[in-house]
Amino acid sequence: MNAIVPIHRLAPGCDERPVLRERGQREVFCGLTGIIWLHRKIQDAFFLVVGSRTCAHLIQSAAGVMIFAEPRFATAIIDDRDLAGLADANEELDRVVTRLLERRPDIKLLFLVGSCPSEVIKLDLSRAAQRLGARFSPAVRVLNYSGSGIETTFTQGEDACLASMVPALPQASETAAPALMVVGALADVVEDQFRRLFDEMGIGPVAFFPPRSSNALPEVGPGTRMLLAQPFLGDTARALEARGAVRLEAPFPLGEEGTTAWLQAAARAFDIPDDRFERVVAPARERARRALQRHRDVLAGRSIFFFPDSQLEIPIARFLSRELGMQLIEVGTPYLHRAHLASELVQLPDTVVISEGQDVERQLDRCRAAQPDIVVCGLGLANPLESEGLTTKWAIELVFSPIHGYEQAADLAELFARPIDRRRRLAA
Ligand code: SF4
Repeated sequence: MNAIVPIHRLAPGCDERPVLRERGQREVFCGLTGIIWLHRKIQDAFFLVVGSRTCAHLIQSAAGVMIFAEPRFATAIIDDRDLAGLADANEELDRVVTRLLERRPDIKLLFLVGSCPSEVIKLDLSRAAQRLGARFSPAVRVLNYSGSGIETTFTQGEDACLASMVPALPQASETAAPALMVVGALADVVEDQFRRLFDEMGIGPVAFFPPRSSNALPEVGPGTRMLLAQPFLGDTARALEARGAVRLEAPFPLGEEGTTAWLQAAARAFDIPDDRFERVVAPARERARRALQRHRDVLAGRSIFFFPDSQLEIPIARFLSRELGMQLIEVGTPYLHRAHLASELVQLPDTVVISEGQDVERQLDRCRAAQPDIVVCGLGLANPLESEGLTTKWAIELVFSPIHGYEQAADLAELFARPIDRRRRLAA
């Protein structure tokens, strides 16, 4: 077996490669989209969007609600009377919330989620959350965050949601022993796999944030060692650091290498001997490597162009380049958090263009000129590019699919291999 060599650990700011910064028209979903995976994760929470019919339509069509299901999200519609200032939006909101909580005693955590319309009429949802929280506590905790599409991208909805929960986390004592907190919503199956690996290594206690139940909010304090599972959690990490948590520098757990280095960051922080770490991860590492081989045959040497969308672009580009031999042309990201991505950036080849923000027309020109084998982009760009003969992958699928960890490494590769293979067969 190969010795485990972490992919680089790097002090923030060490990677000074040039970044193409663009500020123009953008093509991204708004932060409300995060509700689609968050409502499945926190199982006693309810997300009440305070927004327009457009917001309601976005959430319902994206989440594909079954007609008989008791959904755990809804939209309180701001109508023309509210917009014209003829109705008291606060009174209406209180009425809607009261009716909802009377009908749904299973709700223990209610998020009031702001939108573009609620921001336009300057509805103060933090005061509304305080007012309603005081009324319905302790049965229901009421929090608020914004999912507005003004100057945000869709994964920021999760960041804003988790950041809103940080003040509600219990304070750990100053002298508490170190505890690991994995931060970022992961599919339950992935969470269970990671928990088993941490248990076998002897790392503990381990908490996942967000938890599956709002009654299981993890403690935070100076003993908290925070391992980010997602690259789009700048505000959440800052809020946890302000409560004393210490972030562990690591790449993200995507692919065999990324997962190994991520787990190793935790193992080092908890003084787990290298031989024990290697013994625990070896079987899953080997399975991941073997499973990746067949996708390498399809993907090696193929070129890829990322439009900025999910903020997962840089870790995924690192995985595709290092583990599958893909050729990176441009990796666009809506925001570049240099400190959180430090261990990722140094793994990218020098030839790749890294771009932050978007000027969509200029980026489309660069993409057309490069004629990549596959383009990762939002839904709005995918169809036009397909009609021009380019192969695309919807970025949003990368957030909806379980892609973290060893057992999912091949599934992540397959998301790129499948469209390339389909195009090859169509052309044959
Ligand atoms: S929050 Fe804004 S961008 Fe998102 S659906 Fe509502 S109106 Fe559209």
